[in-house]
Amino acid sequence: MRRALLSVSDKTGLVEFAQGLIAQNFELLTTGGTRAALTAANVPSTEVSDITGFPEMLDGRVKTLHPAIHAGILARRDLPAHMAALADQGLAPIDLVCINLYPFAATIKKPGVTRAEAIEQIDIGGPTALRAAAKNGASVWAVADPADYPAVLTALAADNADFRQQLAMKVFQITAAYDAQIAAYLADDPFPDRFTPTYTKQQSLRYGENSHQHAAFYAAPDAPADSLVNAAQLHGKKLSYNNIKDADAALRMLAEYPDRPTVVAVKHMNPCGIGQGATIEAAWDKAYAADPMSIFGGIIALNRPVDAATAEKMHKLFLEIIMAPAYDADALKILEKKKNLRVLTIALPAKDAAPRYETVSVTGGLLVQESDTRLEGPDDLTVVTTTEPTDDQIAALLFAQSVVKHVKSNAIVVAKAGQTLGIGAGQMNRIGSVEIALKEAQQNPNFAGAVLASDAFFPMNDCVDYAAKHGIRAIIQPGGSIRDQESVDKANEYGIAMVTTGVRHFRH
Ligand code: 5GP
Repeated sequence: MRRALLSVSDKTGLVEFAQGLIAQNFELLTTGGTRAALTAANVPSTEVSDITGFPEMLDGRVKTLHPAIHAGILARRDLPAHMAALADQGLAPIDLVCINLYPFAATIKKPGVTRAEAIEQIDIGGPTALRAAAKNGASVWAVADPADYPAVLTALAADNADFRQQLAMKVFQITAAYDAQIAAYLADDPFPDRFTPTYTKQQSLRYGENSHQHAAFYAAPDAPADSLVNAAQLHGKKLSYNNIKDADAALRMLAEYPDRPTVVAVKHMNPCGIGQGATIEAAWDKAYAADPMSIFGGIIALNRPVDAATAEKMHKLFLEIIMAPAYDADALKILEKKKNLRVLTIALPAKDAAPRYETVSVTGGLLVQESDTRLEGPDDLTVVTTTEPTDDQIAALLFAQSVVKHVKSNAIVVAKAGQTLGIGAGQMNRIGSVEIALKEAQQNPNFAGAVLASDAFFPMNDCVDYAAKHGIRAIIQPGGSIRDQESVDKANEYGIAMVTTGVRHFRH
């Protein structure tokens, strides 16, 4: 008869798995809680303490930590000396270890949890026995994830050695991630000496940025159920690598506007139109009119339920993705007419929903920074020109500022309050972005009286000169150039208003 050690915190699927093991002629060894769960379902098992001759001790800190258990797991079946040593001590081999760990991650998420409570949820015996089983994966089955139970029963029946090795590898991934979470909690430092992120593969992607690049999407351990990595897709093709990046960018932009119906349209990580209105349809009209050409193939995020009228307007265009908190039934029917259009329900992103860290890989390392969650309000503005901005202009300047921080540098946004009119992104000189933004904006019937935002200071006065000559009436920028005064003088020369924020929003 083979023997299995069962000691699980998460009792999901336990009874069926135990019954499956008994059907394959296993004797079950169990720790207290696991045994109680099985007994309640009339599944017989032997208590570990009967094997070790020791009671569970120290409030469960010591349960399976005993040579009678660990020698049984670790003995090499191919070494007669190992098997003889077991027999000498009156011990028997353990052929399968099924353990899942104390829920440390879930515990530290609980509001108000104390450090002592968290530490009590650091599993010691569980990882030890799992690692022992995985080290001896040549003979021993190491089962760490309830999701694997059915496959394990099948593989056991077929004595599938490859599958057993896969399980062993998975154990080390799980225990490594577990320890990384403990270390991160104990370090209590956003930038600890060792950065040990622990992500789990959520899905393989068809390819990466291009078809010759392999790619996958990983979920963070604390990813909310309704974040993009878990978002419910109602319709359409699977999200691609580029889709996911763009969708994330769109959601981060949308997070800036919790209070008004807003529509964000993204292309290649930049907004191509952001519109606000009294209704979601009015907001769509503005986002669309902001740049009716670039929105083709766009990623659309809306912060109110989509009604049929808005759906009908979106349906007329080729779009890649539509994301909204909800869809009226008739609206969804309209959108579903396009076979490939990806339609997702998303939770409205909280302003602080952006990942706490952003990471970028560089050759030989990883850059880690806090996300740019800062946004300027009316109190952050200093008027530096003789002309004061009007209230309307201030509203427009703050709106343009909320957009420009999401645009690739060098970033220029021309806007009226509640609508972008022209966006210049990613140019290697600032005047280049100014020209692009204004060329687009001047085609918009709403252009008269528009304002301009710059993500960083003007290195010389050419941008202000160009903007003033092309109809801009007010400018917002961080300031801080040694040649600031030349830009201010230029603004005064044309009688336009300029405010500085002191805060740069590069996005490279
Ligand atoms: P049960 O609910 O069966 O009483 O306990 C199951 C849990 O105990 C599992 O999460 C398992 O990882 C953990 N465990 C098993 N052996 C030991 C041990 O010796 N020490 C500690 N701290 N936890 C153990």
